[in-house]
Amino acid sequence: MKIEAILQETYNEVIGFENIGETASYIPELAGVDPDLFGVHISTLDGKSCGIGNYQEKFSIQSIAKTLSVTYAYQMLGDKIWEKVGVEPSGTAFNSLVQLEADYGKPRNPFLNAGAIVISDILISNLSNPKDDFLDFVRSIDDNNQIAYSRKIAQSEKEVGYRNIALCNFIKSFGLIDNEPSDVLDFYFTLCSIEMTCEELSRTFLYLSNNGISPKNNRELLTESQSKRVNALMQTCGFYDESGEFAFKVGLPGKSGVSGGIVAVHPDQYSIAVWSPRLNPKGNSYKGMKFLEAFTTKSRLSIF
Ligand code: GLU
Repeated sequence: MKIEAILQETYNEVIGFENIGETASYIPELAGVDPDLFGVHISTLDGKSCGIGNYQEKFSIQSIAKTLSVTYAYQMLGDKIWEKVGVEPSGTAFNSLVQLEADYGKPRNPFLNAGAIVISDILISNLSNPKDDFLDFVRSIDDNNQIAYSRKIAQSEKEVGYRNIALCNFIKSFGLIDNEPSDVLDFYFTLCSIEMTCEELSRTFLYLSNNGISPKNNRELLTESQSKRVNALMQTCGFYDESGEFAFKVGLPGKSGVSGGIVAVHPDQYSIAVWSPRLNPKGNSYKGMKFLEAFTTKSRLSIF
């Protein structure tokens, strides 16, 4: 069966499932999103592109942006970034403070909020106009100037971001943050607010299927070895405290966000994005997980 037909068949099946879970209510702007939207889009390295449902609707990609920020920092500074952030799964919630005390402020990985805050600090120290430069970087991956931040969402999160404020100050007390916490957090909330459609997401992430090179413009975003490592991090740490389950059921490196988006890549083959805002108890999109599990099972296109 063709990949487009498998996508359609899987979509038809999963749209009929009961839609369980809640939207992320701790960010007021996210709580107001229609919880029953559901879109998927696949982009393949051999040029196929197929979307179904609400795949052209923008949503803030939240933690999915952490893959892009670590890519940018890794590209600029290489292995030095691992001096400040680790590469181990945490086994704790994405916004947990618990391990930081024992680990002297060094976050276990760049996908935890703590780790992404440290990466934000690194980017601020190395960019002249952090927000503009980061957005330009993201846009340049697929030559897409339609990608933008949502000021409303960034502001909404900023007003209630008590835990992230605590994380940032706590890490700073160990000397692992160089800039002012208010600047680091302003950048962090802004990068999480980036809005994309499923189509834009799957296209943007194709570089991780293609050894770090954008298939759109041949730009090298990461070396082959760096791309392998970012995929390894997505595989082991990309789904909060459910990364093992995602590897077990779906079998692809990927990253999710509390807005209900998931992007996953199959090295040398394709990138796929799913969006459905209702989250399971671990904070991953309920239908997104179900969809990807069924898709990789039917298509037999997982890495295991
Ligand atoms: N901006 C969100 C936060 O810091 C990102 C969380 C996520 O998507 O995992 O809480």
